[in-house]
Amino acid sequence: MLIKGRTGEWETVIGLEVHAQIVSEAKLFSGAATAFGAEPNTQVSPVDAAFPGMLPVINRHCVEQAVKTGLGLDAEVNFVSVFDRKNYFYPDLPAGYQISQYLQPVVGHGRVVLDMPDGRTREIGITRLHLEQDAGKSLHDQHPNLTFVDLNRAGIGLMEIVSEPDLRSAEEAGLYLRKLRSILRYLGTCDGNMEEGSLRCDANVSVRRPGEPYGTRCEIKNLNSVRYVMQAIAYEAQRQIELIEEGGQVVQQTRLFDVGRGVTRPMRSKEEAHDYRYFPDPDLLPLVLDPAWVEQLRAGLPELPDTKKARFISSLGLSPDDATVLVAEQATALFFEQVATGRDPKMAANWVTGDLFAALNRLGIGIEQSPVSPSQLGGLIDLIADGTISGRLAKDVFVEMIATGADPATIVENKGLRQVTDEGAIAAAVDAVLAAQVDKVAEYRSGRDKLYGFFVGQVMRATQGKANPTLVNDLLKKKLTG
Ligand code: ADP
Ligand code: MG
Repeated sequence: MLIKGRTGEWETVIGLEVHAQIVSEAKLFSGAATAFGAEPNTQVSPVDAAFPGMLPVINRHCVEQAVKTGLGLDAEVNFVSVFDRKNYFYPDLPAGYQISQYLQPVVGHGRVVLDMPDGRTREIGITRLHLEQDAGKSLHDQHPNLTFVDLNRAGIGLMEIVSEPDLRSAEEAGLYLRKLRSILRYLGTCDGNMEEGSLRCDANVSVRRPGEPYGTRCEIKNLNSVRYVMQAIAYEAQRQIELIEEGGQVVQQTRLFDVGRGVTRPMRSKEEAHDYRYFPDPDLLPLVLDPAWVEQLRAGLPELPDTKKARFISSLGLSPDDATVLVAEQATALFFEQVATGRDPKMAANWVTGDLFAALNRLGIGIEQSPVSPSQLGGLIDLIADGTISGRLAKDVFVEMIATGADPATIVENKGLRQVTDEGAIAAAVDAVLAAQVDKVAEYRSGRDKLYGFFVGQVMRATQGKANPTLVNDLLKKKLTG
């Protein structure tokens, strides 16, 4: 997507660095707990606090999570990788270095497939995924003139997932992040909770004339919602375009996004890798993986969103749009499949993405908390399919199911909503309506076709909406023309 500037068109080029917190009970190199929201400094081992002489020990589960993620991103897994020290000073980094991976990450090139709004797909390259520790947190808002340090987060395992500069708009960056989060959640390797900081994003942004080489980039740090990522990119691209069009030059820089004002501000000039004095951590051996173990992990992967989407389209006949929406969350896909089994999949998809999503949205709950179970929704669809209730009344029954959690059949019985299919009873209702509306019948017969809908409405009203619509139509047409 091109942006129109004063002097012509511009293309935005974006690469994202995502820090994904690994789902793990213990930290990357210590046994301390990782649960979110604990009292400050209650989940800190001497390793995390960098006491002299303490040695890191790699957490096998975290390695497994990183490898699974690599496989889920269709990436190369490196059987040998190395942990390095990235040296810098910060009050919440007691060791004075972060253990990370630099030249030899555990995962190499992979890809994420975007589901574009027009139904096409687009592949975004993954450069690498490496393992590293998180830092602690400096708390600046606890005291008027002191800063406190909370080391609960220090040492928690992160996967840094770096994309190629393949994204071309803020919208694509949003799609990429959502898709990546979806894959991580399917794999169970990161919970994707951006409010709690489990997923944080740095956005690298540059602009260029279409077809020209890449321009100089700025990196916007620590964005913690998809919306902010998109806003920050849109603002930053515009800023760079205006700067260049006014004769200026973009300088490589690290910037911060000011959420309140919606602008990016310079934070520091861009550091270079050599500033960090990376070197292999002498406390840790190279990480060597057994290829058979990796294959075992591959075999145990769940069906991921892209494969599921393809299956929903090819074997259930869903539209790409419906399939994309239904596979985004594993819980939604599971719910849908339970509803669809043995029923019309298109109808199941309509109910899940229509009435059910609307109700859950209104209640502000996820599908796991749905007051209507898959088998209950399936039961409702069965009642429509076998003619017990009309599609119109089913909507009312569904509202009642959401409100009370009752079974559809029970609601239909208790409220006497069963569809009237008795031809005699419907014919009587039609006769009564036509007898009461002699003038309108005359108008209709003299050519006012539009009145037809009025008669249908009257018959439905007379039968409390329970008359079988097909029978109503047949009988009305016969009697109006006859
Ligand atoms: P660093 O570690 O210094 O941030 P990397 O080479 O790891 O640098 O790149 C970081 C990110 O910057 C990657 O996601 C990459 O795709 C992106 N990137 C590189 N060049 C550009 C560019 N010209 N415009 C936008 N993004 C870029
Ligand atoms: Mg970077």
